[in-house]
Amino acid sequence: MKKVIIIRYSEIYLKGKNRGFFERAFETNLRRAIEDFDAELIKNSGRYLVQNFPEDQTEEIIEKLKKVFGLHTLSLAYETSSDMDSIFEAAKLQAHPAGTFKVESHRGDKKYPLTSVEISKTLGGLLLEYAKGALKVDVHNPSFTVRVDIRENGKALVFGDFIEGANGMPVGTAGKGLLLLSGGIDSPVAGHMMAKRGMKIDCLHFHSYPYTNMQAKEKVVDLAKILSEYTCGTNLYTVKVTHIQEAIHEKCKPDLMITLLRRFMYRIAERHALRISAQCLITGESLGQVASQTIEGMTSSNSVVERLPVLRPLVGFDKNEIIDRSVKMGAYETSILPFEDCCTVFLPDFPAIRPKLDEIAREEAKLDVEGLIEEAFQSIEKIKI
Ligand code: ATP
Ligand code: MG
Repeated sequence: MKKVIIIRYSEIYLKGKNRGFFERAFETNLRRAIEDFDAELIKNSGRYLVQNFPEDQTEEIIEKLKKVFGLHTLSLAYETSSDMDSIFEAAKLQAHPAGTFKVESHRGDKKYPLTSVEISKTLGGLLLEYAKGALKVDVHNPSFTVRVDIRENGKALVFGDFIEGANGMPVGTAGKGLLLLSGGIDSPVAGHMMAKRGMKIDCLHFHSYPYTNMQAKEKVVDLAKILSEYTCGTNLYTVKVTHIQEAIHEKCKPDLMITLLRRFMYRIAERHALRISAQCLITGESLGQVASQTIEGMTSSNSVVERLPVLRPLVGFDKNEIIDRSVKMGAYETSILPFEDCCTVFLPDFPAIRPKLDEIAREEAKLDVEGLIEEAFQSIEKIKI
């Protein structure tokens, strides 16, 4: 008996005039998710089916599909002929050996000789007889459910559970953002959250080579790879800011190191975003989490961004909530590897917690801001993930 995977999408976004646009993006992303497998994707009355795949790849394919935003639920089903004998054979494979159950039926083919209620009754009766007393019907609180879907092509789908998908909207339907990706826990989660709303994500990472090592870079590449499974691919851009940190270290007040560096990062990020047609910056900042993420710290870095919005999807989250999401998306183990990104180099003992804009301006005036940014752009590298 053939196994297929039924895919249902979050229909709420697909109504109205934009339906085709959302569906095309969703379908493209589904195809991409299963491209490494020998599997076929077909559209079937308001949902998709994955079929003709080798059975030993089932789990892997399901894991991939669970990362596609816009996917509401999926089910692993048996596809059979729609005659009751064949449906019964498939239902026996879905049924637990003992316990309570119910049958739920749906007819796509309205010419099928039995109504959905009759299908459920007939199949339920057959299963009861087959189980010889080990099964009981409980329509209100069954321990398992057998679901039957009669299709128009003389076939039926028989399945059990609904597996929860990633939900959200298909990536590619809500513009493009540039994620400031550090090696930490927060920024991959921030990217994941914006991708969930349909945003395409490219990443920008600042490093302080040779103060930071190659392992730190590999860690960021690995994080971008993990993220890219949800974002349908990404480009990772890396920029060296060592010379900027050295210049700040040499000329400015030590407690403003992070504040000033942040402003350079945001300026570089905005310019780069505009070059690659990204429509916003995304960061993993969360209010009050560290000294630079006070409202004053955010005001300071925000004030150098002139044309684009800065999205901070984690701004109201506790660290624990962020960690939960990091674990769920599969990034946590990589995020906690001990390799430093640039911000831990030249770290002051007491960073300014409430930096004042006039003082920042005075310190920044000691630097050749444009020259330093220009030099940073000389080092930019693009890694296609
Ligand atoms: P994360 O866990 O994302 O590293 P964090 O708690 O360490 O965040 P900060 O170091 O204050 O917080 O960074 C705040 C945000 O600034 C990060 O979430 C990220 O978006 C951006 N950022 C920080 N360092 C870098 C970097 N080296 N490259 C790119 N973006 C960075
Ligand atoms: Mg960090």
